[in-house]
Amino acid sequence: MIIENLKYATRIFRNRPILCNYYVTYRCNARCVFCDFWQRRNYKQIPDASLEDVVRNLRELRKFGIIFVDFTGGEPLLNKNLPHMLEEAKRLKLITSVTTNTLLYPSRAEEIRGLVDILHFSLDSLNPVIHDRLRGVPVFDRVMESISIAKSLGEQPDLLFTITEQNYREFPEMVKFAQTQKLMLVTNPVFPYFGNAGITEKALQFVETFHNQPYVYINRAFHRFIRAGGNRVEAPRCRGVSATVVISPQNELLLPCFHHRNQAVPIGSSLARALQSPQRIKALRRQGTYPFCKNCTINCYFDPSFLYKRDVYFFESFLPKIKYWFDKTIRRKITFSGRNST
Ligand code: SF4
Ligand code: SF4
Repeated sequence: MIIENLKYATRIFRNRPILCNYYVTYRCNARCVFCDFWQRRNYKQIPDASLEDVVRNLRELRKFGIIFVDFTGGEPLLNKNLPHMLEEAKRLKLITSVTTNTLLYPSRAEEIRGLVDILHFSLDSLNPVIHDRLRGVPVFDRVMESISIAKSLGEQPDLLFTITEQNYREFPEMVKFAQTQKLMLVTNPVFPYFGNAGITEKALQFVETFHNQPYVYINRAFHRFIRAGGNRVEAPRCRGVSATVVISPQNELLLPCFHHRNQAVPIGSSLARALQSPQRIKALRRQGTYPFCKNCTINCYFDPSFLYKRDVYFFESFLPKIKYWFDKTIRRKITFSGRNST
């Protein structure tokens, strides 16, 4: 653990990437109101990432020093080879994460058992009507079923709460539920993208009053960043290209980030070559300064970006990570042993 943490710190101080966002499919079986994956017709035609490409790239990512791999999408469980991909990642001692809407989790839980270090189940309300309305499909019952299956298999899924104007008032109930279940409640403020308005100050304030509650993860650095107007192109805070490697199902390196990719470098049989390409070097220089970077608050890039510069965002985003680790490991054990001893 200490050695892993040291490796992590060294990578950050040397400005080398720690995270790979691996898009293993662009397909999705939900229709969330804040997402455009299911609305893009061309995505349905794009084949899922092949096992052969993923295995080869994982080996190169390991050599390149990547520590975390987020298998993402679309809905990652739609890729039939996901369990084999996760097995290879674990064999390479990479830290794995998967976020799922849970529609397929009950039927695939056994296949991925023990292979996902950070398993996220999307849950936006304890009111089935609100959750299903936000997700665009009837999925609430499947989330509840998935929680119970995951726990019976010894998994410890986090509940991922996407904060929107439609559901932020549901947060207190969600906190109680997470505490009863002894599962982490991870917040994810919706960001402006393809016409979405993003999050309001009222919603941020409401949710962040719970930041000290057990089993709640709120990155207040991110709230501060949203309030400050997001990324400034004249003094960029984005380190998306420094911190992350983004790979598409078509085996391309996407630059500078997934949501505003303006370059797709073919990886072929050598990820190392793509990582040293002039396109990536240029994107490293320009990260956070493109016209589309103005006011950007895409949290999947800023969460790692905050670790790449010692400023208020660095310190404020570091503390919730310690709390996350404490709640998920020590607090859980204390409460379990406390209960066992009575
Ligand atoms: S489950 Fe994820 S990828 Fe699918 S529509 Fe919802 S937010 Fe988008
Ligand atoms: S759009 Fe956002 S995440 Fe992408 S490079 Fe610009 S600031 Fe970074």
